[in-house]
Amino acid sequence: MQQTERENFLKNAITIVDHTKDAFVCLVDRYLTDKNWTFEQFLSNNQHEIYHLCYSSRCCKCPSGYSPPKRRVLHPSQLDVLFDKLSKLPSCKNASEFCCTIAKNGISSTVLDLSLARCLLINFCVDVFWYSCLQFQNQDLDDFLNLNKHNLYHLWQPNAMCCQCSAGYSSPTTQSYIDQTEWNQMFTTTSIPCPSHRKRGHTGYTIYICAVSAASGISLNKLTLSLQEVIIQYCCHLRKTVDKLVEIRNHDYGHATEGKMSDTDYAKCQTELQDGIMEIAKVCNKEDDFKQKLQSVQKRSLDETLCRQYQNTLLEFVNRHKEFNDEISEIGSRIDTLHGKMASKTKTIPIAIAGKQQKIMDDSMRQMGTSVAETVERGYQENIKMLERFQNQLDELIPKKLKKCSRQSGTYSMIVFIRPVYQLLFIRLSEKGYFKL
Ligand SMILES: [Zn+2]
Ligand SMILES: [Zn+2]
Ligand SMILES: [Zn+2]
Ligand SMILES: [Zn+2]
Repeated sequence: MQQTERENFLKNAITIVDHTKDAFVCLVDRYLTDKNWTFEQFLSNNQHEIYHLCYSSRCCKCPSGYSPPKRRVLHPSQLDVLFDKLSKLPSCKNASEFCCTIAKNGISSTVLDLSLARCLLINFCVDVFWYSCLQFQNQDLDDFLNLNKHNLYHLWQPNAMCCQCSAGYSSPTTQSYIDQTEWNQMFTTTSIPCPSHRKRGHTGYTIYICAVSAASGISLNKLTLSLQEVIIQYCCHLRKTVDKLVEIRNHDYGHATEGKMSDTDYAKCQTELQDGIMEIAKVCNKEDDFKQKLQSVQKRSLDETLCRQYQNTLLEFVNRHKEFNDEISEIGSRIDTLHGKMASKTKTIPIAIAGKQQKIMDDSMRQMGTSVAETVERGYQENIKMLERFQNQLDELIPKKLKKCSRQSGTYSMIVFIRPVYQLLFIRLSEKGYFKL
């Protein structure tokens, strides 16, 4: 029994570490084929954006007025896989070692590991996901938008039930990721609204889900890249599969520590992995290839040396994530403490504003509760935005005298406090290489 469990573990580890990675690389290659690019050209074309996934201060290539994204998702060691430090131009005045460098000569997508492949896929290969939703399914963009209309509606209106909500429907997010302009770009009024909405006598019906359909003949170039990314993130099955496969790797702590796996766990995990890998293989037109790879894993017998190697590789991944979670709870408890202090001080602030403050803190903590690095990045951006909006409202709402009082009471210091907390979190996590997702 012990031997079977160890064998299960090895087979599963090979499926995760090797074949899931192969599937991701295959998807990158599929994108490259469509663009008729080599991997080296892909890196050159996206170099500035890739660079700023690691460095958030301005570089020599930043156009005037451009402010680099604040989120940091790559570690310098990952840029080192892609770009040639020795190619740095002598004229470059920037201290970072990858400014003014070029892609490694003749580099191919085989250098990618699971994390780096996923990072490039979700940040730069949105077209391959569109391919999987449209041409591959033989459907036009308007069909796709109509099929996903309800989810898209709640990405715009996350907190209100609509007339098409079925019992128990829960919105994909609590935040709004689509604005009204974007909604109006996708959907136009095509019919009269349902009776309950009709009664209200509004003239502009685009705000009612029951009165709109996707603009006929709409094409992708009508949608901004950021809107496309939101749609893909929440409505594309292939994109969800990519995320799910990485999640399986990140959270398989128990099996990686013990180095064994029961038949039941093995069967369950293999089904999920194989379904995901084969979904990618189909889009890449590599079904036979991957079927064979997955079958040959099943035939493997136990090899202790190999088993230990895979165990170490997996442990490295999962330990990184465990430490990451610890950091999150540490920050979470600091926010808790702050929350406590705030609660005792909010009495001096008008009730309406205190309510908002509560919501901001609750949102922060809800986001702290989940454990993915992306959530932290997104949480950071959203909290800062929310806090800035809140500060602006505060500036408008509160007369000068009161403002002085509310600053003392902590509203102002909350903004001042949260920013460095997140910055500290970013620095510590990226130093430790957590931003390898
Ligand atoms: Zn730049
Ligand atoms: Zn430079
Ligand atoms: Zn609804
Ligand atoms: Zn309605």
